[in-house]
Amino acid sequence: MSRQYRIAVVEDEHNILEVITYNLRREGYRVLEARDGVEGIDMIRREKPDLALLDIMLPGMDGLQICQSIKTDVSLRHIPVLMVTARSEESDVVLGLGIGADDYIVKPFSPRELVARVRASLRRLGQSTDDGRTVVSVGGLRLDSERHRFHVGEEQIELTASEFQIMNLLMRSPGRVFSREDILSLTGSSGGIVIERNIDTHVKSIRRKLGDSRDLVETVRGVGYRFRED
Ligand code: CA
Repeated sequence: MSRQYRIAVVEDEHNILEVITYNLRREGYRVLEARDGVEGIDMIRREKPDLALLDIMLPGMDGLQICQSIKTDVSLRHIPVLMVTARSEESDVVLGLGIGADDYIVKPFSPRELVARVRASLRRLGQSTDDGRTVVSVGGLRLDSERHRFHVGEEQIELTASEFQIMNLLMRSPGRVFSREDILSLTGSSGGIVIERNIDTHVKSIRRKLGDSRDLVETVRGVGYRFRED
């Protein structure tokens, strides 16, 4: 049986909150509710849900600010954010602001549409298991640590154990810079990574294998490497 996804819903309008929670629970999701923005972000920080559904106009802190707080926090940014907007023009604003919202849904929405959007966002997140994400998809790359497979678009690419470990580390935290020392300590030496300068060789090889996607792995001069943040 697949695990139960936890969805944080921040919505101050009682009727809408009720419709959302009823429909998501009926689909088997666990719903965590908050009616206030500050309460909402506190709950999200504490619970680290699988997805956040945010209304825009909220007391305390608005949905855009909550989204921004999620997307600028390294421990939360992987959480897909679905904004609930009042009008379709508002949704254009949401996506145009660059606050990192993953999708939006316009009020009034049908339960069927709501569930479809939630499912789609969770699917994009990748298949999860109880012990964390085994599949990471970002920038058109897909890494499956359970099966030790790596894809660029539809094409499967062979990575060495060390290259795989480096990509696993970088892809799980896009935008975060890892020094060579970080990479050594966080990947362990089991994959054959022995000395710091070897990391440069591995990265060079990874880039060659990435082809047109090579720019996703960025060099941060004098510091280390990071996976490009979109
Ligand atoms: Ca509202």
